[in-house]
Amino acid sequence: MGTIIKVTSPDERAAEVVFEEFRDWEEKLSHFKKGSPISRLNRRGKVRTDPEVLGLIKRSLEVSFLSSGTFDITLGPIIDIWKKAIKNKRLPKSKEIDNARKLIGWENIYIDENKGLIKFTKRGMKIDLGAIAKGFALDMAVARLRKEGITSALINAGGDIYCLGTKYGRRWKVGLRHPRRNREITKVYPLSDKAIVTSGDYEQYFTIEGKRFSHIIDPRTGYPADSGICSVTVIAEEATIADALATAIFVLGEKKGLELAKKFNIKEVRISKDCF
Ligand code: AMP
Ligand code: MG
Repeated sequence: MGTIIKVTSPDERAAEVVFEEFRDWEEKLSHFKKGSPISRLNRRGKVRTDPEVLGLIKRSLEVSFLSSGTFDITLGPIIDIWKKAIKNKRLPKSKEIDNARKLIGWENIYIDENKGLIKFTKRGMKIDLGAIAKGFALDMAVARLRKEGITSALINAGGDIYCLGTKYGRRWKVGLRHPRRNREITKVYPLSDKAIVTSGDYEQYFTIEGKRFSHIIDPRTGYPADSGICSVTVIAEEATIADALATAIFVLGEKKGLELAKKFNIKEVRISKDCF
């Protein structure tokens, strides 16, 4: 999943359980792995898959619906264009973006749950689960730990964090870094049995022609999000939802972003606009 996963636990089995889960889900959810259901879907426009993958796609669509499409797993074709732009250090042509935008739209995913079928309704569509897969894998890893009877662990998967149980009876402490001043901690949250996920433009961003761009795309324009936010942190029961919402709020901006969080009954969202 392109990140480093750190596990802290008094139980020596914890790390291997977590790594195993992440490896398994990466095999299933990555569009870079040729044999994954997601890659097959992207190649053929349809795939039969298991209830877990289907469930994740359904939840993604739910967030798309409630976020007015600012969270959208069908951004694949646009993300490819921006990846090429970064490689060549040249902004894409607006014509290219316009063409790719015709292939974008979460409404164009069709699901038949009884058959376990996911289908695209347009040729050339591509999904990219980059904004939700880490959160999902994290929830699955936590469920596995609980099943194995492991009750205390802190997992950090590159900004997607879960605090399982306590650290010797006290809540785990998670510090948020300032989005620009690397060594400054702006807030510390004591947490137990909660996910805390950050979407920021500082771990991943790129510069073309002197301008800084985030890796999060605004599906309404096809261009990198430009809402004035440089970091969003969401605390939730589930990492899957926290991950998806952090990305959506990054696109929506503060006012609409907080409205979205309310719909999911999220109590803690921290937004930073301290981007200079
Ligand atoms: P995150 O770091 O969770 O905010 O996810 C960002 C990643 O998700 C990007 O690297 C893209 O692969 C993908 N992505 C970018 N913009 C969006 C968006 N608006 N909705 C869904 N996925 C996106
Ligand atoms: Mg996300």
